Amino acid sequence: MNPKNTRHHRSENGDTIIATARREGDARNQGYRERALKLYPWICGRCSREFTRVNLHELTVHHRDHDHDNNPADGSNWELLCLYCHDNEHQRQLENDRNPATDITTATVPRGHKPFAELKAQLQDDKQDDG
Ligand SMILES: [Zn+2]
Ligand SMILES: [Zn+2]
Repeated sequence: MNPKNTRHHRSENGDTIIATARREGDARNQGYRERALKLYPWICGRCSREFTRVNLHELTVHHRDHDHDNNPADGSNWELLCLYCHDNEHQRQLENDRNPATDITTATVPRGHKPFAELKAQLQDDKQDDG
């Protein structure tokens, strides 16, 4: 018989669920690094630099598909890379993402505006040949 009280109780429950989900998400994100370090030898997958507990913070867990939420238990989406190689890997990915778009625009725009004029000229030539 107290609607206000009920509503307050429900919203409190909602907050708790969200907070719990957030905490679990953080734990999962930190957990994948621990799991990857247990699964793989502490060696950079690119430059083969070896790591120990002393410099382990320079070894990063890279996600092959760049999706940090994709953490399969078998580690198939993880790759251990040193800071430098990890940086390079992401730099290359950025360039790969950018290049196809710029290639298309730079390749088609200069050529793209002339063919229409040439086509028009050709059509006119054809007409003249026929006529
Ligand atoms: Zn490396
Ligand atoms: Zn990465």
